[in-house]
Amino acid sequence: MQEIRIMSDNNPANSQGTPGKRGYVYITGAGPGDPELLTMKADRVLREADVILYDDLVSQDLVEQYPAEKIYTGKRKDSHHFEQEEINQEIVRHALRGRTVVRLKGGDPFIFGRGGEEIDTLRRYGIGYEIIPGITAAHGASAYTEIPLTMRKVSSSVAFCTGHPVSKIQVPDTDTIVYYMVASSVHDVLDAVAARGRSGETKVAVVQNATRYNQKSFTGTLDEFRTREKAVYSPALLIIGDNISKFIENSWYSRKKKVLMTGGDSRRYAGTEYILLNFPCRRIAGADLDAVRSCIEGIDDFSMLFFQNSSSVKYFFRYLFEHGRDVRHLAHMSICTSGRAAATELLTYGIIPDCCLESEASAGLGLAGLLQKEGLSNQHILLPCSGNVDESVAAELEAAGNRVTPLGVYVHGTQRTEDTIDLEFIDEIYFSSPACVRNFSSLYGSIPERITVTPADDRTADEFRKLFSP
Ligand code: SAH
Repeated sequence: MQEIRIMSDNNPANSQGTPGKRGYVYITGAGPGDPELLTMKADRVLREADVILYDDLVSQDLVEQYPAEKIYTGKRKDSHHFEQEEINQEIVRHALRGRTVVRLKGGDPFIFGRGGEEIDTLRRYGIGYEIIPGITAAHGASAYTEIPLTMRKVSSSVAFCTGHPVSKIQVPDTDTIVYYMVASSVHDVLDAVAARGRSGETKVAVVQNATRYNQKSFTGTLDEFRTREKAVYSPALLIIGDNISKFIENSWYSRKKKVLMTGGDSRRYAGTEYILLNFPCRRIAGADLDAVRSCIEGIDDFSMLFFQNSSSVKYFFRYLFEHGRDVRHLAHMSICTSGRAAATELLTYGIIPDCCLESEASAGLGLAGLLQKEGLSNQHILLPCSGNVDESVAAELEAAGNRVTPLGVYVHGTQRTEDTIDLEFIDEIYFSSPACVRNFSSLYGSIPERITVTPADDRTADEFRKLFSP
């Protein structure tokens, strides 16, 4: 007879974990930096996680896309410094509360990642786990600088070694050696390699920030590098072997144009030429959760939803789902947007807005006029928006004869300065609004002339000239 299994309720939204249920831990590799190098499996478990414990090498932008609680276990100055044993205990503590834990590490968890120690602890506690491999820094650097780690007739073996601590430096007899953790010990490693009898003509490369927008690499020979006083910045790899081509500084990745997007529509940069970096110039933080709950519970009282931008859509739906509702609970409402970005975002939730008021195209009429033209008055409008409510929009909607309840679903904060982007690596900046220009100017006093600036519209261009022209 067929066995029928009844699946237990496994609602990922239950972020508090289930008492009595044992948690589960995914020791997961995040890859070397480019967020697209995350595996599909890692992405899935990150979406399902109740809590993510992540390290220095993992970008904060990556983890912020997931709804789980995030715990930073790295060594940033402003945060608590976790020792490995403490991290092990933290993983166990959450798992024992029945939570799904993702322990997210740079690169691969089993290449200088201390994943082995973490699973020892999990075994001791009898906690279930899986390991999800990641692309290790050596593979990322190899692909993005065009250094094949093995190469017919040139290199038939490769070793991964550590340059730290200096007392542990090994020089295996492989054709290619990749040293991790070398930022402060490059010369010690090179001396050790030379002492093993490798020719002074052996090729050497340093790759910093492999696969990230600020990837930088330089090459030379063993002898040249030993006499060169060039600082190496972490994270960096030192690669040794004759498979290193002299073209690495001009690899496919370094030829891409790096465009900083302060928001807006990325479709204008479609094509293989560009790398787009999201840099909203502001951070989006939480909302007044009580107000959110009461609006969502009382959603039947509203007759219309009005979205001004894509963030409002995104955060409104995140809260809607977290409260166990979905689009069917909005079926009684008209849904309108003031621009196309919000309308496009709505489509991802399966909603075609009843109207999309192209505020720029029809600037003459004003929002109130447009709404009246569309017959949208006498509505009770829920206006999900930034916590710093834009009174003028609410006022215009009211002027069209509507009752408006603004609901802050996100808050604009200022960008953390440690997240600022090094403009040395940027070729173009796209400014999506005058506010982005203002925020950018408070973070960066000036923009190097080399960088192309592309404002979204005339108002943004005016603001740029006002703040950045000498
Ligand atoms: N588990 C990681 C390695 C952690 S050890 C992995 O598999 O990649 C930390 C070292 O990894 C750094 O000191 C540096 O040598 C290397 N590393 C990690 N990410 C890197 C990157 N994007 N570019 C260059 N080196 C990197």
